[in-house]
Amino acid sequence: MTNTQPRQDFGQNPLQVRDTNHYTEEYVHSFVDRWDQLIDWDRRAESEGDFFIRLLKEHGAKKVLDVATGTGFHSVQLLKAGFEVTSADGSPVMLGKAFENARRRDHILRTVHADWRWLNRDVHDYYDAVICLGNSFTHLHDENDRRKALAEFYATLKHDGILILDQRNYDAILDHQIAPTHNFYYCGDNVRATPEHMDESLARFRYEFPGEEVFHLNMFPLRKNYVRRLLKEVGFQRVTTYGDFKETYRETEPDFFIHVAEKR
Ligand code: SAM
Repeated sequence: MTNTQPRQDFGQNPLQVRDTNHYTEEYVHSFVDRWDQLIDWDRRAESEGDFFIRLLKEHGAKKVLDVATGTGFHSVQLLKAGFEVTSADGSPVMLGKAFENARRRDHILRTVHADWRWLNRDVHDYYDAVICLGNSFTHLHDENDRRKALAEFYATLKHDGILILDQRNYDAILDHQIAPTHNFYYCGDNVRATPEHMDESLARFRYEFPGEEVFHLNMFPLRKNYVRRLLKEVGFQRVTTYGDFKETYRETEPDFFIHVAEKR
C-alpha cells in the first residue's frame, strides 16, 4: 500500500524482514525524494551511454514496457530516444515521482500501477521489450514470486520479444571477492551504499546521504547463474549476460550484470 510515512519501519528485528510485499514500505517519500535529489540523471545517462538503446534497436524493439519505473530515469531516456514506452511499478510513491520527473522534462508518462506478480491483470498489451533495471528484481524474496513475475513478463512479450533485467553482482559479495565494507557509489557522489548484512537469503543495504540521513533496503542476493537458469526455465530460449559497463566503483569484479533474455 502507499506509504506516506516519513520513516522506514523494519520493526524490532530488521534481519527478519524477508518479505516480497515489504518493498512498498521501503520506498517511503523521504527516501524517494532524497534519492532523486542526489542521483544526477545527466551523469547516469552519461555513464550508461546508449547501451540499452543500442540493445533495444538491435532487437528491433519499438514498444517497451518498463516494469520497474522507479523515479522514471529509463522511461524518460527511452521516450527521448523515440521509443513507445509504458511505465509500470508497484509503488505509487515511485510512479508519482516518475510522472513529475517526466513532466519537468516535457514528457507525459503512460503509467500503470502494477505488481509484477499480477502484471497481466493490469497490463493488457504486448511489447517488443520488457525492461526491469536498477537492481529491481532483487526485491522478490521467494522463488515462487520470482517465477511468477518472470512468467508474467514473458506473457506480455510478443513472440520475438526480449526481457532486459539487471542485478547487482551479489556473487562477489557472498563469495568475498568484494569486501562487505566496499562502498558502492551511485552516479551521485553523495550516495553511499554498503551491504550491512549478507547471507544466502538476505542482502540488507544501507544508503547514506549527506546530513547522516540513512535508509535501508532488504533484498534477496541473486546469484548470476541462478537468474540465468530461472530465465531459461520460464521459457526464454537464449540468455546473454553482460558485465558492468558503468562507471560505478569497481575492482576486478563488475558491480552489475545485465541479462538479455530472448523469447524466440
Ligand atoms: N528502475 C529504477 C532505477 O533504475 O532507478 C528503479 C529501481 S528501484 C531499485 C526498484 C523498483 O522496483 C521500485 O520502484 C519498486 O517499487 C519496484 N518494485 C519492486 N518490487 C516490485 C514488484 N513486486 N512489483 C512491481 N514493482 C516492484
